[in-house]
Amino acid sequence: MNNFKALLVNQTIPNQKSEVLIHSVAKESLPQEEVLVEVAYSSLNYKDALAITGQGKVVQKFPMVPGIDLAGVVREDISGRFTPGDLVVLTGWGVGERYWGGYAQWARVKADWLVSLPDGITLKQAMGIGTAGLTAMLCIMALEDQGLKLDSRDIVVTGASGGVGSIATALLSHLGYSVVASTGKIEAHDYLRSLGARNILDRSELEIPQKTLMSERWSGAIDTVGGQTLSSLLSGMVYGSSIAACGLAGDSNLHTTLFPFILRGVHLIGIDSVMCPKEKRLVAWKRLVHNLPLKQLEKMIRIISLEELPIMSQIILSGQLQGRIIVDLNL
Ligand code: NDP
Repeated sequence: MNNFKALLVNQTIPNQKSEVLIHSVAKESLPQEEVLVEVAYSSLNYKDALAITGQGKVVQKFPMVPGIDLAGVVREDISGRFTPGDLVVLTGWGVGERYWGGYAQWARVKADWLVSLPDGITLKQAMGIGTAGLTAMLCIMALEDQGLKLDSRDIVVTGASGGVGSIATALLSHLGYSVVASTGKIEAHDYLRSLGARNILDRSELEIPQKTLMSERWSGAIDTVGGQTLSSLLSGMVYGSSIAACGLAGDSNLHTTLFPFILRGVHLIGIDSVMCPKEKRLVAWKRLVHNLPLKQLEKMIRIISLEELPIMSQIILSGQLQGRIIVDLNL
């Protein structure tokens, strides 16, 4: 390993448009971190697309190797916590934003950031899950902590055909909940039903401003969209129920009133996967392996090369992507 292939985002003039290059990088350029990982797979998340297209100030240092997820094989570890040959997974921790990430054939990272590949899945499947799946699981765990129970009422997932939404839909359905999948894509209805959604809601219904309190409809919600969609969800929640808010694919603003909170005791729970403590991640990964049927994951994934990332980034940001994208570093 003298040189390896990497996708780099660079900005030659500060605050000007960044450029994306696929380069052969010398191994000496890798950051000085504890664990050397030969990366097999990464994935494409909404945040990665922002990094590649130079939006949202995701990249905090140039040149940057984006890619907030990676899975591969440990080749060296000066911390002594991993043995060469160990299979590992990394999501978040600022990797791909402040530290070089998964869009390269090799990475050097802190031992603390790695989890061992959970038993029962492959490196490729782990990246099919990636940050999106971890976030979906953290949302469900947060709803359960607030008392979510199986009953006959519906749980709504917004942005359902996207990465987080697809995995949340499949997980909740497998757990026995009645899932309503909110989507803007007519062509995704069959796909979402095949993941277990009981009903489909057209995304536009939640984009219309609602009365402060509507009839109680949702016994739980996972929201990846934000803005008016989240505001509409708040007004339709069942007494004492919770929303796990993890995304802003539609809008980062939220205009609401206090009535859902003080008249219905609704909980609005923020979910962050990036700095989520390791113990919680380990629980979430274990549950993902048990609660996400691999045949459902297969329906969601598409495999691409580093070279395809710029175009796929445009597609994900336009809201057109369905499911999860795995990046194969050896293609
Ligand atoms: P995807 O692009 O895969 O999915 C987003 C989905 O949202 C789209 O597929 C679309 O689904 C819907 N959507 C897109 N644009 C709009 C719009 N303008 N209005 C309403 N709905 C829209 O992204 P991810 O699933 O990877 O991420 C979803 C969100 O969650 C992002 O904002 C991301 O940054 C955030 N996120 C947060 C994490 C955390 O730790 N808090 C971790 C991971 C992601 P459809 O057509 O079905 O409606």
